[in-house]
Amino acid sequence: MRLRNVPGAREMIIESPFSIQEPERLKGHWSGEFGNHHPIHIEVGMGKGKFILEMAKRNPKINYIGIEKYSSVLVRAVEKTEDFEGNNLRLIRMDAENIQDIFDEQEVSRIYLNFSDPWPKDRHAKRRLTSARFFERYQHILKSDGRVIFKTDNRELFDFSLEQVKEAGWILENYTYDLHHSEYNEGNVMTEYEEKFSAKGNPICRLTAYRH
Ligand code: SAM
Repeated sequence: MRLRNVPGAREMIIESPFSIQEPERLKGHWSGEFGNHHPIHIEVGMGKGKFILEMAKRNPKINYIGIEKYSSVLVRAVEKTEDFEGNNLRLIRMDAENIQDIFDEQEVSRIYLNFSDPWPKDRHAKRRLTSARFFERYQHILKSDGRVIFKTDNRELFDFSLEQVKEAGWILENYTYDLHHSEYNEGNVMTEYEEKFSAKGNPICRLTAYRH
């Protein structure tokens, strides 16, 4: 998702107390940034931030970090934080390819991937956030008992992701092809894309994986 250039987006992002500039300086020091040792959960490709903001409101004892590639999208998340009074949310504009530059070994307890871009062409498969290549990156930053949780309505991408979990040597804890009618739906927070696609009648797939 790349939105039209939003005038003033960069300034708004820089001025927001929730957005982090030069996140590399916080590698290994995120607890210091939050002022506590609560677990850190991140969403990679958070889009306009509905999910992560709601999660931060519901779970004040978890620190949330949202990562988004484009300022034109991130600014929509920043706008949503206007009335948010918690201190457990940070937003970063960056490409997740470089995620190891901003988190140290085992610094993250959970990684959410919600409705990640499918990159349908085979030659772009490595760009998928659920490719084995990305799982290798997640392996470095995730705690040994951490989890990756992936939701999508794209069945092809989901089946690819199930395979990639195994290919990366990870373990599939559970999965469903119809989250909203499954035992895993309790407490589910819907993302912007999830609302859009489930309203069209698309079943939502979800998997949870952990590393060896
Ligand atoms: N997670 C949101 C949701 O479920 O409503 C947004 C889904 S949208 C289809 C995918 C988002 O991931 C886009 O905003 C896109 O810019 C972002 N994205 C894709 N690849 C990324 C990457 N390598 N690093 C950071 N963000 C990325």
